[in-house]
Formats: sequence, C-alpha cells, structure tokens
Amino acid sequence: MAIFSSDDFDNHEQVVFCNDPHTGLKAIIAVHNTNRGPAVGGCRMWNYASEEEAVRDVLRLSRGMSYKNAMAGLNLGGGKAVIIADSATQKTPEMMRSFGRFINSVGGKYITAEDVGITVEDMEQVATQTKFVAGLEQGSAGSGDPSPYTAHGVFKGLCASVKHRLKRDNLEGLKVSVQGLGHVGYDLARELHEAGAELFVTDINKDNVARAVENFGATAVGLDEIYSQDVDVFAPCALGSIINDVTIPQLKAKVIAGASNNQLEESRHDQVLRDMGILYAPDYVINAGGIMNVANEVNGKYISPADGMKAVEVIYDTLLEIFDLADEYSKPTGVIADQLALARINSGGDDGGNSVKAA
Ligand code: NAD
Repeated sequence: MAIFSSDDFDNHEQVVFCNDPHTGLKAIIAVHNTNRGPAVGGCRMWNYASEEEAVRDVLRLSRGMSYKNAMAGLNLGGGKAVIIADSATQKTPEMMRSFGRFINSVGGKYITAEDVGITVEDMEQVATQTKFVAGLEQGSAGSGDPSPYTAHGVFKGLCASVKHRLKRDNLEGLKVSVQGLGHVGYDLARELHEAGAELFVTDINKDNVARAVENFGATAVGLDEIYSQDVDVFAPCALGSIINDVTIPQLKAKVIAGASNNQLEESRHDQVLRDMGILYAPDYVINAGGIMNVANEVNGKYISPADGMKAVEVIYDTLLEIFDLADEYSKPTGVIADQLALARINSGGDDGGNSVKAA
C-alpha cells in the first residue's frame, strides 16, 4: 500500500503506527501540519474493514483538522488518531492506557481528544499516561465532552445556511432530516425541535431513533431512505463519504448542514451540489464548535459552559462570509473554505484574527 505517494497523504509531517499485542491495541497517529501550533484532533475507534481503510480515514481526518483549526482561528495544527477495534466489544482501560503511552511518545506534537467511539472516561485513562490529552472533565481547565459544543455550532451553522439559501430567519415548520443520533446528532435534533423544525431521523441504533421519536416527535425513516426525504435541510451526523454519486441524485434538500467529517466522497461533489442549487456548509467549518472549546483547555484557560456555547456561535458569521464569497466568485463553498484555510495554514498563525476576510 502506497503511503507517501497517495493522494490522502498530502504532505503529512508524521504518521505513527502503534502496535501493542499485550492489550490488542492497533492504532495510527497522524500529524498533518504543525505550522500553527501542536496538532489537535480527536481519536476515533472504529472496526475498519481493512487496514487501507483505516490509513485513508486517519489521513483524511488529520488533514481536515489542519483546515478546521485554521478556519476556526485557532493557533493549533491538525492531527488525528484512529484505533482499529470495535468500541462496543473490544475496548478496555488497558488498551486506552497503552494508547496514552504511544501519544506520550510523540512528545506533544499531537494532542488527542474524543471522537467517534471514544468517551470522556476513555480519555481519563489516556490521561494517566500522558499530559497530551484534552476533552477531560478533570483539571483546572477541563472542558469535558466536546459534542454539545459541536452540536450547538452545527445548529447555528444550519441557521446561517437556511438564511442564505432559503432566506429565512427562523426554523419554524422547516423540514430537516438528521442522519445519526449519537452525541452530536441527538443534541442537534433537540435544538432543531426546540426551534420548531419538523424532524425525519435515522440511525443504526434503534434506541437512539426511539428516543428522538418520543422526545421530539420525529418521524423515523429507513437507513437508505434518509437521502430521498422531501425536506428543506439534510443534516449528516453519522459517518463520512455519504455525499456521493449514488446519494446526490436522491437529494431533495436545498441545504446540507451537518456534523459529519469528510461528508463529500470526492472533492468534485462540491461542484455537483452547487450546480444543483444545493448549498453545502463545509463540514470542517460547521462542525468546529467542539474543537473551539477543547482549544481553551489546551491553552490552559477555563471557560464556563455558557461562555463556551456562546463562543461557538461565531460559526454563523463565518459561514455567511463563505457563502457570500462563493456567490461572488461562482465557486463551490468547499473550495472557498479550503482556500481561506490554506492561506491561514501557510501564514503559520499570523493571520490577524478570526475574520474570514483576514485570510
Ligand atoms: P457518535 O458515535 O456518538 O454518533 C454517531 C451515530 O451515527 C451513532 O448513533 C451511530 O449509531 C450512527 N450511525 C452510524 N452509522 C450510521 C448509518 N450508516 N446510518 C445512520 N446512522 C449511523 O458520534 P458523534 O460524536 O455524534 O459524531 C458524529 C459525526 O460528527 C462524526 O462524523 C464525527 O466525526 C463528527 N464530529 C463529531 C464531533 C464531536 O464533537 N463529537 C466534532 C466534529 C465532528
């Protein structure tokens, strides 16, 4: 399998393959870029079908973190880790502590946190072996689970997308489909329900669906039916690559605004969406709320949950600026976001603040 020459490698600074037969840990730590500061990004535990799939995922996610952190105006680089295992059946405290020792061996170039399949409790185990970990409840600057902040940022980003594409200032009666009702998707569904939206939901976990039906009056739909729902907005909050040649022709939504990382299977799909009049909120811009809150912890700064929630609302304005630039230059929203983020990465953090225009 080619690594250095693969498209996904994209000039990564360092990739570490971690193997511990004693605990069963098989992990990959990827550090994409540290121009702006230490690489920060979550750790995902997933039962990958192949090693190639795991390598591809960690490289794409890690690169995405460089762009996400830069666009969020954070002086942090981009990195990510994956652990190849089933989080429901194979995860143990010993495995997480072993992962912590590998994180420590990278010497602070990469700071880990939670992602899919990883909980705050898992990170507490990692923290017994290394200080290069965030998303903890403990400690003077502990920021806890990033998911509620991600969900609130996605909610605000969804509102900005609706304002731009549908010219609406509220969500009353708006139809929204939500794919995935996990840590982020469920909180997002709650905020959408509270704002008066009508929900159509799916998840491979039947309990999550039942909760949303009961608590938010959501309509449950099949896993493959979620794409073709007659809705205004589609919010992907499960896994990546779900916007592709098979799903795009099924879409009726005018807006795609959700939490999943790497939503587009290929970057060209961004142009396809634009040609169809579907507004795409670039994933790493709309889902940056969690990392924005984690960044305070990395910088040793305590911020109250209420202030943390308020701070992520900047995503609303950031997206509106990206949408306006996309219209001005007739380019897909993802291309505009990439250009702005790359300029910030290359500037090494000396970009004068958080305004999109500063890039
Ligand atoms: P999670 O594991 O808590 O939730 C994911 C949910 O999706 C689960 O309920 C799972 O059952 C469901 N799911 C999996 N495959 C599915 C499928 N094919 N169809 C429908 N549902 C499916 O993860 P999360 O923390 O809520 O994250 C969701 C997405 O948002 C991920 O792509 C993650 O990388 C991204 N994200 C999360 C955060 C965060 O703060 N947690 C931050 C940025 C991005």
